[in-house]
Amino acid sequence: MAIIPEKQVYSFEEGRAEMKALLGGKGANLAEMIRIGLVVPPGFVVTTEACIRYYEEGQTMSSSLKEEVEEHLKALEKKMGKRFGDAEKPLLLSVRSGAVVSMPGMMDTILNLGLNRETTEGLARQVGDRRFALDCYRRFIQMYSDVVLKVEHDFDGIMQEEKDRRGFQTDIELDEEALEVIIDRFIAVTEKETAQPFPNDPREQLFRSIQAVFDSWNTPRANVYRRANNIPDDLGTAVNVQTMVFGNRGESSGTGVIFTRNPSTGENKLYGEYLINAQGEDVVAGIRTPKHIDELKDEMPRIYDELIRLCKKLEKHYRDMQDIEFTIEEGKLYFLQTRTGKRTAASAVKVAVDLVEEGIISREEAISRIEPDQLEQLMHRQIDERAALDVIAGGLPASPGAAAGQVVFDADTAEEWSEKGRKVILVRTETTPDDIHGMIAAEGILTSRGGMTSHAAVVARGMGKPCVCGSEEIRVDNENQCLQVDGRTVTRGEVISIDGATGRVMWGEVPMVEHRISGDFQTILDWADQVRTMKVRANADTPGDAARAIELGAEGIGLCRTEHMFFSPERLPVVQEMILAESMEKREAALQRILPLQRDDFKGIFEAMLGYPVTVRLLDPPLHEFLPDRDELLLQVNDLRKKGESAALKEKEALWQKVNALHEFNPMLGHRGCRLGLVFPEIYRMQVRAILEAAVELIKEGVEEARIMPEIMIPLVGNEGEIKAIRELVEGVMAEVEKETSVKLSYPVGTMIELPRACMIAERIAKHADFFSFGTNDLTQTTFGFSRDDAEGKFLPHYLENKILARNPFMEIDRDGVGELVRIAVEKGRLIKPGLEQGVCGEHGGNPASVKFFREVGLDYVSCSPFRVPVARLAAAQAAINQSR
Ligand code: ADP
Ligand code: MG
Ligand code: MG
Repeated sequence: MAIIPEKQVYSFEEGRAEMKALLGGKGANLAEMIRIGLVVPPGFVVTTEACIRYYEEGQTMSSSLKEEVEEHLKALEKKMGKRFGDAEKPLLLSVRSGAVVSMPGMMDTILNLGLNRETTEGLARQVGDRRFALDCYRRFIQMYSDVVLKVEHDFDGIMQEEKDRRGFQTDIELDEEALEVIIDRFIAVTEKETAQPFPNDPREQLFRSIQAVFDSWNTPRANVYRRANNIPDDLGTAVNVQTMVFGNRGESSGTGVIFTRNPSTGENKLYGEYLINAQGEDVVAGIRTPKHIDELKDEMPRIYDELIRLCKKLEKHYRDMQDIEFTIEEGKLYFLQTRTGKRTAASAVKVAVDLVEEGIISREEAISRIEPDQLEQLMHRQIDERAALDVIAGGLPASPGAAAGQVVFDADTAEEWSEKGRKVILVRTETTPDDIHGMIAAEGILTSRGGMTSHAAVVARGMGKPCVCGSEEIRVDNENQCLQVDGRTVTRGEVISIDGATGRVMWGEVPMVEHRISGDFQTILDWADQVRTMKVRANADTPGDAARAIELGAEGIGLCRTEHMFFSPERLPVVQEMILAESMEKREAALQRILPLQRDDFKGIFEAMLGYPVTVRLLDPPLHEFLPDRDELLLQVNDLRKKGESAALKEKEALWQKVNALHEFNPMLGHRGCRLGLVFPEIYRMQVRAILEAAVELIKEGVEEARIMPEIMIPLVGNEGEIKAIRELVEGVMAEVEKETSVKLSYPVGTMIELPRACMIAERIAKHADFFSFGTNDLTQTTFGFSRDDAEGKFLPHYLENKILARNPFMEIDRDGVGELVRIAVEKGRLIKPGLEQGVCGEHGGNPASVKFFREVGLDYVSCSPFRVPVARLAAAQAAINQSR
């Protein structure tokens, strides 16, 4: 039976926006633009499925695919009245990659394909401009050599030499003679490097280019970008083959990149750049500094008006801000790309609110469109304007936020230093896709060249990283690893600050302030609060954190850890004394000294959280964490032994023995949590007393009783006996304090669910618990049997790279395993107590994908670090919208 091959090539007319998965983003949108009547150069798309098949077939192109391409080529020739490879009227093409998700910086486009010495002369005759034809040819050779033949050579350097030789300043001054020399030199270089003749056959050029696009799906830089952005590896890329239009045909031609609104601030005004007499990447490559789009109004008023009108049309059609590429060929406007514009969080929020106000989208759509993780950018620090600033240079405000760090001049160093925990600012003349890993590692990026749409600017905005670009006063001296500006030198390792909101570059580390929620950001969060059904609490251990959490919209504290209160320098000695005590009396005496301190801690927190619940977890870590390091102690003991100092030696030896006795082989699974409270009940008794007495003191000071809402949480329960015993302990102390103070106390006592066994017997635990709080960090550790630090430090990166695991389960909840346990526990708990309050207090509480899951299983709240509270509020709203659909 003959297998009918599936269609692998679509003409633009056959496509539409909804076909992104098959045609890639670029192809689907080119098709859509044609559908709604915009002028787009004709072409066709080789599908993502063809790419996947290409890989399945061992990176070879099937003959059926080649045939299909030929058919579409023929149709294109007919339509354009030109022939591919024809010496008189040659059809020229661009070959452009286009994945499902746009991946900036994948500069694999090849323009002017189909040129060789004969067709170049044909093109020259056809348009009556030989200089132009030669310019196209030299561009083609350069792109093809670089992208397809992988020749690593400084072609721009050759151009520069030829310009210098003739005293030319810019590329447009290059005349026919110069271009001929450049072409010859380019070809010579490529032929030498590849040891092959330069391919003159247009068909060979075409097929090898298509293949190169397929191959580019698997380059290290593509993989790095996908990993950083959570894009699956198996989507494949489509290839767009399109008729060329020429922005380099003189003064009535040009090319540009525009956003329908400002991608940095969201302002509703056309934003972008263009260059006259230029082609392709000239605008973004920083060869000449492009002009602001406003200037086009004077230079080409008719085109400008048309552009404004059609941009609005595109925006209305897509109902979102668009990022558009256009080319003007001899006074005619062509659209070459449109896509949803990447934007900063500030811009995302403003555009969403504005679109609602303009009646284009609904509030729910506005909420759904903002990437919750992006909101953290808005919480980023800003320069404290009250400080005296030593501004050393200015540049373009390419991506807002302030950053300080040590200056480095290459991406590898940026990555290395940041892995060592240093903060770095990556300084480059301009960035390229090869710098991605350094940009990811850096706090901020500074370039001396390039505009607001340069690679550095676009990528930094996408990452939400502060960026100042095109700071032309700065001279980057890579050889000496320094930068010079205004007679001053900043060498590698010295600290500067940048402000991506204003474009300022400053000497040293300048003071910064936190951002407050206001304006459109506030509006979006208010809308989110109206839709969401899950509450959002914060994890906070201090009154300061608690106050910050409230400011950011938290509705309680989901996890107040008490161990931090033990670690402060003035308390640690008493805590150690308590641990080392040889008798119960001595231990109680030490605890008596800690009690008032703990009580004050809780008072502070309850005061900051009046009217909101505060879940206090009793001591969790094993006691040896509060004692000195075992190996260090041994060294000290040995030292003292050598010196023979007896008194000090005896003391140290005793300490060392105690530390030894407490030593655990596996502290994560050791003597911690409620196990500690059961063996040393006096510690938990003191803590419970501190909580209750804090409440009583506040009540006696006149605070309304109902506004003090502690919840006592018992950690690491794995069986019924544990919670039963500790609940009794808590109730005992409660009765004592009630009696002593004559204040009626009844606060909820619940447990953290963080062991698989606890999930499986949740109905028995629920009998003794007033609430469950899922500690998903430990639950993930105990379910996977991974200790987080060891996993993330050792094998997890390997797992992720080799796709043994799709995601880091400590960042996003593992639905199938850990999540399933949560679901079981939620159901079992509610079976016994229908109103049982259940929340999550692991870090997953601030992770949008996990928040979605928690809403699905019916949790009452999520709790996360104060900074993530706005993220969780928005994510919870999105989860509600999503589930009601
Ligand atoms: P990227 O994905 O990096 O944006 P593109 O495929 O959009 O790459 O193209 C790179 C450059 O080439 C853009 O400036 C684009 O406008 C230009 N270009 C692509 N196709 C054509 C064409 N058919 N005619 C003229 N310019 C083109
Ligand atoms: Mg590309
Ligand atoms: Mg493009």
